[in-house]
Amino acid sequence: MGIFSCEKCGCMENTALSKYWSRGEGPVLCSECDPKIGKWHGRFEKKSAAGMLIGSDGFLYSSEIGLEWRKEHQGFKIVGMVK
Ligand SMILES: [Zn+2]
Repeated sequence: MGIFSCEKCGCMENTALSKYWSRGEGPVLCSECDPKIGKWHGRFEKKSAAGMLIGSDGFLYSSEIGLEWRKEHQGFKIVGMVK
């Protein structure tokens, strides 16, 4: 499970609640922007991804707390912030 930013509306979305893994070559979309789903799942509030940290795995993180092990052992890094 990971958090990503929707390419169309810029909100935060969860890989497990959208078609992230089955999208093929298509754009990364939230459940509401994905024409195959078409509505927000309601599992959490729809919010902008602005200010979220971008990890070297491509997913978003709200803070660096809890990432120490991955930084030390897996070469994980914070590479930027969503604008
Ligand atoms: Zn969207």
